[in-house]
Amino acid sequence: MNCLFCKISDKEIPSKIVYEDERVFAFEDINPQAPIHILVVPRKHVATVLEATPEDNELIGQLFQVANKIAKDRGVAERGFRLVMNCNRESGQTVFHIHLHLLAGRIMHWPPG
Ligand code: AMP
Ligand code: ZN
Repeated sequence: MNCLFCKISDKEIPSKIVYEDERVFAFEDINPQAPIHILVVPRKHVATVLEATPEDNELIGQLFQVANKIAKDRGVAERGFRLVMNCNRESGQTVFHIHLHLLAGRIMHWPPG
């Protein structure tokens, strides 16, 4: 499958991995939008959140557990952080393998751009 994040999962494409286990991995975003910008990704290929099934509920929960751990490890848990999952064109999704953006280290604005 010609998927960028599957290739990063398989280490065919290098990335700055900050966490990995059998089901989930996380790495630095190549074009950071905040001082901390990490992508938390399931190894399973799911193109968008629309394709997630009830069988994926535990896996998607694990994305949040990993994001929590990284936010705590980086010392931003109390200050605050933002978790974002884009879906399809109008959201700005560019990589069609689901991922949670962990953004932190600056004041976040609302509404988002
Ligand atoms: P999205 O627009 O929600 O699909 O997010 C895709 C994210 O992947 C963007 O923030 C990109 O900067 C990031 N990205 C694209 N290619 C790479 C790469 N090779 N390594 C790390 N991050 C990447
Ligand atoms: Zn994939």
